[in-house]
Amino acid sequence: MVSPGGPTAGGLRVADGVVAEIGPEVAAGPGDGVVDAGGCLVLPGGVDPHCHVMADLAGASRAAAMGGTTTVLSFSSPEAGEAPGPALRRARDAVAGGGSATDVGLHAACYQPDELSGDDVSEVVALGADALKVFLAYPELGIMASGGGLYRAMRHAARRGLPVQVHCEDGELIEALVEEAATAPTRSTATFAQVRPAVAEELAVTRVLAFAALAGADCYLPHLSTAGALDAVRSARSRAARAEGRGAKRGVGSSGAGEGNRGPGGGRVLAEACVHHIVADEGVYATPAAQDWLVAPPLRSAADVAALGSALADGTVDTVGSDHSAVPTPVDPRIASSSGSGYGIPGIGARLPLLLSWGAAAGLPIGRLVQLVSSGPADAFGYPAKGRLVPGADGDVVVWDPSARSVLGVGPVAPGGSGQGPYVGWELAGGVRFVCVRGVPLVGDGAWVGPADGGRVLTPRR
Ligand SMILES: [Zn+2]
Repeated sequence: MVSPGGPTAGGLRVADGVVAEIGPEVAAGPGDGVVDAGGCLVLPGGVDPHCHVMADLAGASRAAAMGGTTTVLSFSSPEAGEAPGPALRRARDAVAGGGSATDVGLHAACYQPDELSGDDVSEVVALGADALKVFLAYPELGIMASGGGLYRAMRHAARRGLPVQVHCEDGELIEALVEEAATAPTRSTATFAQVRPAVAEELAVTRVLAFAALAGADCYLPHLSTAGALDAVRSARSRAARAEGRGAKRGVGSSGAGEGNRGPGGGRVLAEACVHHIVADEGVYATPAAQDWLVAPPLRSAADVAALGSALADGTVDTVGSDHSAVPTPVDPRIASSSGSGYGIPGIGARLPLLLSWGAAAGLPIGRLVQLVSSGPADAFGYPAKGRLVPGADGDVVVWDPSARSVLGVGPVAPGGSGQGPYVGWELAGGVRFVCVRGVPLVGDGAWVGPADGGRVLTPRR
């Protein structure tokens, strides 16, 4: 059993949807359903901090559960011109109406950041948003924040205690590179990645950290993928620590994401990695599988991948997400090639098995891996009942068999709710055997056994 104190032997009893007892003395009572987890690890259900599932909530939430993720934290999907509040309300209604197999928390996406008002932010807070999301990229989609827009959004959010997530790529630089690539004699699938270099991410991360410090905002940095971006996070945290005269940062194994990870403005600085940036590098863009790996930010150099591995081990990274994309986003037509037409990776079901398998090979302790896939994301967004096996927490449980071999996309672990994605056929050490949400079994012996519509919509505590 893997609880916040580390792995221990024993049993766990769930009653009325919550963890009732945990420890060596726990025994089944009359009428209890029993799951024999002999030889397996009993883990808290996974919490995926980064998903885009609203276009296929049913399929994606089921794939999530098949891969041991019981809480999906998704972005809302505003329509063209739609304000964050109405889009968030639609997303919550879809979950509350029985659309999801897993529990779902929602990040409020903002597609017109320069028009965002304090009232808009108050509205999403009242509706149960766990964060606000703005973008420093995608001028071609009309959703890029100006510097002023970013700062004002952060101030509005900071005043209301709402974390701000920022997509960190410098959209103006990328736009110039797109224009240049559009006039080149040839383009390939890899062009999409080439116009989104590491420096575009690093410039944006540096800028966001500076703005968040001034605004006093909690900032959450999704899908960090470069050595320079990770160094910028470390530097912001250690500047804050020096100013306060304390140690540089929390150690690995401390209780969760964020409390020690303050930035110079006093707000939290939280860093996310996504599983595709951990398990693959830019070499895939020279292979026939290039299309499957198109994602923003793109896959990086082997050196960046190694730096990310170190950051997962040393506590720099707080959470690991899938950036699950239920439907591909069209590539900017100016740089589309015959083979490169859409981007976004379906990985919601693959995330937890991939990270546990990768982590075992890399020698990371299981307690650290559980922080990254479960308790870290829950802590980052204010869900104390999720992501950890303690009495009173929701009875979201995964039985993981570390000695099994599993093949993604075949049998127990589907790669995603939609599309095939790049992980099909990957062979992993370990496999998901059993999954329940609030005590309701969804997966047994690696097969679907649960209701498809029992997921609840979550409201964060702040
Ligand atoms: Zn995303």
